[in-house]
Amino acid sequence: MLSPVGLIAIAILSCVISMAVFGSLLKAGIPGLARWFSAYGLVTIALVVLELRGHEPESFAVIGASTLLVIGAMLMLQGCRQFFGREPAHWPESAGVCALLVGLVYWTFAAPNLSARVTMMSLYFAYARFAIAWMAYRFRPLHRPKYGYLFVAITALAGAIFHLARGLVSVFGLTHQSVFLEPSPLNIAFLALGILTLPFLSIGMVMLAHDRLAERMERLATIDELTGALVRRAFIARVETLLAAARAAKRKLSIAILDIDHFKAVNDQHGHAVGDQTLAHFVSVLSQGLRRTDFIGRLGGEEFAVLFVSTGKAEAAKLVDHLRSAVAASPTPAGCGAIACSFSAGVDEFGDGDTMTAVMARADAALYAAKAMGRNCVVVAPSPEGLSVECVGAD
Ligand code: GH3
Ligand code: MG
Ligand code: MG
Repeated sequence: MLSPVGLIAIAILSCVISMAVFGSLLKAGIPGLARWFSAYGLVTIALVVLELRGHEPESFAVIGASTLLVIGAMLMLQGCRQFFGREPAHWPESAGVCALLVGLVYWTFAAPNLSARVTMMSLYFAYARFAIAWMAYRFRPLHRPKYGYLFVAITALAGAIFHLARGLVSVFGLTHQSVFLEPSPLNIAFLALGILTLPFLSIGMVMLAHDRLAERMERLATIDELTGALVRRAFIARVETLLAAARAAKRKLSIAILDIDHFKAVNDQHGHAVGDQTLAHFVSVLSQGLRRTDFIGRLGGEEFAVLFVSTGKAEAAKLVDHLRSAVAASPTPAGCGAIACSFSAGVDEFGDGDTMTAVMARADAALYAAKAMGRNCVVVAPSPEGLSVECVGAD
């Protein structure tokens, strides 16, 4: 037989389990997670206080437990805001919580009114859950799997509707409750539903935390930390995927291989740290000059590749030459002054049945030719028919 005391014992257990899971993720430094952990900690203490209190008359214990529950709900909401990169605390909300706590004290000691307290608390919990549901839906990252975000949104919305229903039942006096935790069927139903929302929400929050960790790992595996370009393997994988689609749609695809000229001299003259700065700046200038469809990968050291979508090699060479001008016009700002650099590039396009390795090898040979021609220029790989090497924009 369900009783308030039994239900609260189950809730305590589920909150402790939630805390243990949040605790295991604390070191990962996921924004908002520390607040979720604290929220469940406060709710656990509140529930233990209520459990120990049993059916005693109103007391400081009820006020203390209610205060902890309200602050716990606020921390859960703030944790979500922090997770989604927003300002966690809003002063009107904090002012509202203070007013709610004053109301709790007033309706417990000055003019005891259980119904007013239940209404106030329920409406506040409904607001906090609605805000979480809206945030999880509105700010879910579109490039990530949406399962966990929708789970949180639906769970929080269900919790909000339940709390709202409880608040409305109380405000319209549809139920008479003389003692806090009265074991009436309606009270037990409300308590059971309210308690159920806690583990559901924490499971949802753990899903969000895991998604953030997975995103971090994927980023580490695909993005070069220094420059923000794709790492070689990720670049090749992305090109292979696009190649299949381009072949099906009979669209052209071109690749340029870029190598910074005399980069060793930058390191030798200004040090490795300035060399790193130059590499990062170089990629940022390239990225700004690229079309939205095209992307850049770091093949290794100071060598990069750019993929041009729906573009033949002649047009790609012109685009690379614009990048060459952009790099020349934007030296790297460093402590020791502005560091100018240039690059040489080789360009080729995918022919029928061409493999990635074959095209990269031809673009690489064109790059080699560009270096041999004095650097700071773009060379288009000769066609298989054997036309001569074409050089674009050599200074
Ligand atoms: P070239 O015009 O023939 O390409 O001459 P280069 O000096 O650019 O070519 P080389 O291959 O001789 O030197 C490349 C240099 O790039 C050597 C290496 O120390 C430097 N390098 C490679 N990766 C990094 C990096 O991540 N950071 C820094 N600072 N330097 C790097
Ligand atoms: Mg070089
Ligand atoms: Mg090189």
